[in-house]
Amino acid sequence: MNYNKAEFERAFGISGQLPPSKVPEIAFAGRSNVGKSSLLNKLFNRKSLARVSSVPGKTITINFYDVDGYKFVDLPGYGYAKLSKSERDRFGELMEGYFQSGRNIKLVVQLVDMRHKPSQDDYGMIDFMQQMDIPFIVVCTKADKLKVKEFKRREKEIKEELSMVDENLIIPFSSQSGLGLDTVKMLIEKSLGA
Ligand code: GDP
Repeated sequence: MNYNKAEFERAFGISGQLPPSKVPEIAFAGRSNVGKSSLLNKLFNRKSLARVSSVPGKTITINFYDVDGYKFVDLPGYGYAKLSKSERDRFGELMEGYFQSGRNIKLVVQLVDMRHKPSQDDYGMIDFMQQMDIPFIVVCTKADKLKVKEFKRREKEIKEELSMVDENLIIPFSSQSGLGLDTVKMLIEKSLGA
């Protein structure tokens, strides 16, 4: 599939607005600031199609991209402490609305920060996907921030921390060096049969 044919479609703030699920979708989930926008830009081979921010906690929306006829869905980042109650409610409404509307979700790309043990919210997402039988992979971001020795240690540790996940589906990744990019693309294409 041609990732260069990526176009931003629309941001949705209420799940009732979500378009019908006609074509296969790949969704991207993770806590805010984990590197989701950077991963999307790396996949799309674009500098800033998805917004990259050094300030965590952006607008709570689900953003749809059309990528060569498939949909890539950027889910709102979670785990940002400073959300108001109404923002938290909106986040919950959007996520539940997205996952409970019988969509054609082929794969969820779940992002975690490679440097740290996955958060309770990360574990919650993984548990949810396993319960719902939603196929997913775990992409471990910011791998370039680890020195060789630390990288090797964390690579081993995170597989133990994520012992409920097939270790072939845990992928160290860096949007800076491009480490893991080909594997992520391959797994996306495999899930789409593309
Ligand atoms: P999002 O909130 O999940 O969309 O995260 P962003 O993509 O906006 O990234 C948050 C911050 O982490 C930004 O300052 C990025 O430049 C930085 N970042 C993201 N991915 C990487 C990476 O792989 N390596 C490094 N060194 N920094 C990264």
